Amino acid sequence: MFHGLFTVVDRIRKVLVANRGEIAVRIIRTCRKLGIKTVAIYTSVDSEAMHVKLADDAYSLGSNPYAYLDIGRISDIAKKSSVDAVHPGYGFLSENSRFAKAVEDVGCVWIGPPWHVMEMLESKTVVKKLAGSIGVPTVPGIMELPSIGELRSAVEKIGFPLLLKADRGGGGRGIRIVRSIEELERVFDLAREEVRTAFGSDKLFIEKYIPRARHIELQILSDRYGNVVVMGERECSIQRKYQKVIEEAPSPIVSDGDRRYLYDLAIRFMRSIGYVNAGTMEFIRDEQGRFYLIEVNKRIQVEHPVTEMITGIDIVEHQIKIAEGRELEIRESVYTFDGHAIEARVYAEDPERLIPSPGTITWIEFPNLSNVRIDHALSPGTTIPPFYDPMIAKVIARGATREEARQRLVQALSSFRIEGIKTSIPLLIKILTFSEFIKGNTHTEFMKEFIAGGH
Ligand code: ADP
Ligand code: ADP
Ligand code: MG
Repeated sequence: MFHGLFTVVDRIRKVLVANRGEIAVRIIRTCRKLGIKTVAIYTSVDSEAMHVKLADDAYSLGSNPYAYLDIGRISDIAKKSSVDAVHPGYGFLSENSRFAKAVEDVGCVWIGPPWHVMEMLESKTVVKKLAGSIGVPTVPGIMELPSIGELRSAVEKIGFPLLLKADRGGGGRGIRIVRSIEELERVFDLAREEVRTAFGSDKLFIEKYIPRARHIELQILSDRYGNVVVMGERECSIQRKYQKVIEEAPSPIVSDGDRRYLYDLAIRFMRSIGYVNAGTMEFIRDEQGRFYLIEVNKRIQVEHPVTEMITGIDIVEHQIKIAEGRELEIRESVYTFDGHAIEARVYAEDPERLIPSPGTITWIEFPNLSNVRIDHALSPGTTIPPFYDPMIAKVIARGATREEARQRLVQALSSFRIEGIKTSIPLLIKILTFSEFIKGNTHTEFMKEFIAGGH
């Protein structure tokens, strides 16, 4: 039944998990806990994958490894398998408003924000305009780029370096640092062409580059009735190629005063746009301590477990309950946390050469420590195909203090044995034991300095 803006069911009893890998497994686990049946989808290379084995039922997408992006096929499966709802995970189609709408059109509940809200937030410049209209600060920049000829005078006001960003970019792709007007003129057409192919829109915009920034993001939950709560922040400043490598919660530098300030902005913003379900507001903090909203991620995030570890809240469970149309059980934003949690993303890659290392896992031994969570879809014999994101596991450790969490994470990573493929575990241990990390002196240029320092 379609009722106003939302497809309505009284209970979600069966969910199609439109994803693969660790996040598909993680969603299936919560569904099981709630007594909800699950349906997996898989491409031929994933026919033996863990998410397929754990789900109650599974449908093949055929031999094209990129069929996880096939809106028509997946919404057909949703219909055919008589699920009540679709959970998209992260990546793939999770932020695609056309997919969300297609799911609703076949009569299923979309476990995410309303598609028209997603559509609005797909453009980073629209987010900036919406934010500006209610006094939420964003990075100074140029949203409508004039012709390359007129750019010169426009960028003078901003100064170099600057960032050339794709309006519909994501996952760190479509972002490029530009250091001079000559460079901007040289790369402009190429950048436009690249983002057209990658994101289906060639719109670029410019932002002032914030040096040694901190990436601070807020985990939001909101229901259909205007209740919006913040589950604290995560700091994700350790990045490579604008992608997160290590994340933690709470941030070592965010004060209670910052929290009051940011939560107030976030609640006002999310309410003003009618946001429903889980979402993340990403900010960067400059060296003077000012915060700027950079984008809204309309889905569960990779790093959500750090928040779960220090709040005891299962975010996927709340996503499902919100999608059922229930009112949020949590009525207050969270200001006090149960210790500290740090997550390290394990990549199937050669840590020396930083290139992907697909292949078959011949031996695996997981750390067995309390206060350590490992999100993965791995077992002996699992093949890591070359077609997908090379992140194969997340190791998350909690401690009473940041230092305790850090030591526990190092211990966990040191006893995590994976053979048959190369992984980033040695690099993660080096970062976590580097003096600047121990001090909490993290910023988005950390990895560049770490690697340049010969670490
Ligand atoms: P994506 O959609 O790819 O995640 P974001 O806009 O969230 O793109 O930016 C990704 C990362 O790039 C941020 O986490 C931050 O490290 C860096 N970044 C983004 N904007 C700026 C900026 N104006 N100055 C400095 N770094 C930035
Ligand atoms: P408090 O003053 O409550 O002890 P802090 O010393 O942590 O808090 O300082 C942060 C204060 O700065 C917040 O209270 C907040 O209201 C204020 N503030 C105003 N604008 C900004 C901004 N753009 N970024 C960060 N803080 C801001
Ligand atoms: Mg981002």
